[in-house]
Amino acid sequence: MAARRIAGMQVPERLRPATKVFRDRVARVRSSFRRHGISALLVVDAAPLRYLTGFTGSNGLLILRSSTARLYTDGRYQEQARHEAGRVAAVHVVAGGLFEAAVREGGLRYCRVLGYDDRTFSNRHYKEVRRLLPSTRLVAVPGLVEQLAAVKDRAELTSLAAAAAISDRVFREILPLLRPGVRERDVALEISYRQGKLGAERDSFEPIVASGPRSAMPHAKASDRPIARGDAVLMDFGCVVEGYGSDITRTVFVGRPHPELKRLYGLVLEAQARARDAVQAGVPGRVLDALARGVIARAGYEKYFPHSLGHGIGLNVHELPRIAPASRDLLTAGNVITIEPGVYLPGVGGIRIEDDVVVQEGGSTLLTHSSRDLIQL
Ligand code: ZN
Ligand code: ZN
Repeated sequence: MAARRIAGMQVPERLRPATKVFRDRVARVRSSFRRHGISALLVVDAAPLRYLTGFTGSNGLLILRSSTARLYTDGRYQEQARHEAGRVAAVHVVAGGLFEAAVREGGLRYCRVLGYDDRTFSNRHYKEVRRLLPSTRLVAVPGLVEQLAAVKDRAELTSLAAAAAISDRVFREILPLLRPGVRERDVALEISYRQGKLGAERDSFEPIVASGPRSAMPHAKASDRPIARGDAVLMDFGCVVEGYGSDITRTVFVGRPHPELKRLYGLVLEAQARARDAVQAGVPGRVLDALARGVIARAGYEKYFPHSLGHGIGLNVHELPRIAPASRDLLTAGNVITIEPGVYLPGVGGIRIEDDVVVQEGGSTLLTHSSRDLIQL
């Protein structure tokens, strides 16, 4: 098969899954209908639409019934929808509201119980379905597709690894640019630009670049602040290849670090290593979180670690499984998760170290390989 290189990695030219992959995914969703007591499923969110059909447009409605799959979209996506999804779903190009058209065309005729994901379904959608199908029962099936999508296949893992390889390379390239006087915003722009140049479709999210005291805000946007000597610079970024995203954080120092932050760097690294070493199929997400949190708590910094340890990544930057104190999710082989403990001292600065990890039976593999050693520039 033809191959291309992404950030030094050999990647097949066509990462797009084969038709069979989509058909299998659709079949697995259908086989769960009975368990959820539904006779059809509505899908409107971009990630599950892409996961089930390959469709990448921004306006689509998939109606999955036990023997039919219909994808409704508008004229802008006529060619694209047929090309991307035509082998998995009957594509209907319609004018106006997609639901209205779907009902008019009989896509939901005789449907008694309709499943929908209440986390991605807007109130407007809900009201519209209620109005158009007054006698159909609506049942919320949160995460039905997402649960299947949490277990990645080979092609998905290749895309995730390629995205991680790009972000790793950009991290290396960006280090020489971090100097006193350089604005956070310029660093963020360089990250986006370089990821794109190396073959990414887009950023996974707007890069976070936070320096000095601003690094104590876990999700600070890049600002006009110039980096100063002695700053911690926290960079959290990622990029997307074939729909699948990377998500990495590194914190480096420009000049000599604040002594407490230097100590905390070692602590966060230890917490991260503790959790990384424990990753394997069967481990509950909350146990992983507790391992890292315990390391930080024993050093007396528990209240400075205000977020969960990690999250699944894939077509969405945040997806299942949850790696958090109250998570009930069990790690499964094929999950890809982040491990990202952090400690943030108000007025001083923050440290976070984040990597992307593939869960396997009896262990794990890292997708991000950037150095975790304390870097002083
Ligand atoms: Zn991140
Ligand atoms: Zn993350």
